[in-house]
Amino acid sequence: MNLVKVVVVAVPGAGKSTTLQLLKRMKPDVKIVNFGDYMFEIAKEKYNIKDRDEMRKKLSLEEYRQLQLEAARRLAEVKGNVVIDTHLAIKTPRGYYPGLPTEVAKLLSPDVIVVIELNSSVVLERRLRDLRLRKPVVTEVGTIRYPRAKRDVESEEEIELHQRMNRYFSVAVANETRATVKIIDLRNVVQRKPFEHAEIAAKELFKLFQ
Ligand code: AMP
Ligand code: MG
Repeated sequence: MNLVKVVVVAVPGAGKSTTLQLLKRMKPDVKIVNFGDYMFEIAKEKYNIKDRDEMRKKLSLEEYRQLQLEAARRLAEVKGNVVIDTHLAIKTPRGYYPGLPTEVAKLLSPDVIVVIELNSSVVLERRLRDLRLRKPVVTEVGTIRYPRAKRDVESEEEIELHQRMNRYFSVAVANETRATVKIIDLRNVVQRKPFEHAEIAAKELFKLFQ
C-alpha cells in the first residue's frame, strides 16, 4: 500500500485540530504531527522559550527561520502515513510569512496539501466563543493548550484574506514539490449538529488514505 504524506492547513479557529482527532479515530495508523510542537520543542532547548506564542515574538526573523528549518528536518524523519498540522500563511506585523518556503517544502515533500476553509463569520464566532470560554484544547500528542488570553481579534475580512493567502501559498508549494492541492471549502455548509464541519473534513481526509 502506498504511504501518503499530507499537509493540512486552515486559519486558527477553523477546527483543524478537532478534524485531525476525528481522522485519527477513523484511521488510527495515521501519524498526526504538529509543526508548531516541533518548533516549540527546539525553541525550548535552544532559546529558552517557555510559551508557544513567544516563538513569534521573542525571536528574530533569522532565528525563526532557523527554527522552522530545524523543525522541518526533524519532521522529515517521520515515516508512514503522515498528516502534518501546520500553517502556510503566518501572520506577522510585516505581512504573511510562508509556513513552507522552498527549502522547508522540499524537506517535507508532501503528496497532498489540504486547505480547509470555512465561512469567515463562523471562524470569528468560534474564536470569540473560545476566548470567552477559555476552553482548554487537548492536542493529538496529549498536550493541553489554553487559548491565548489576548489573541488579536481579526475582522471577517481579515480572516477571509488569510484564507485566500492559504490558497495562494498552497499553489506555490505544490509547484515546488509536485504535491496536489485539495481544497475543502465548507463556506456554504451550514452545520446541522456540532462538529459537522470537522466530520465532513475528516471524511474527505480519510479518502486520501484509501
Ligand atoms: P498551531 O498551534 O498549530 O496553531 O501552531 C502554533 C505556532 O507554530 C504558529 O502560530 C506558528 O508560529 C508556528 N508554526 C506552525 N507551523 C509553522 C510553519 N510551517 N512555519 C513556521 N511556523 C509555524
Ligand atoms: Mg491548531
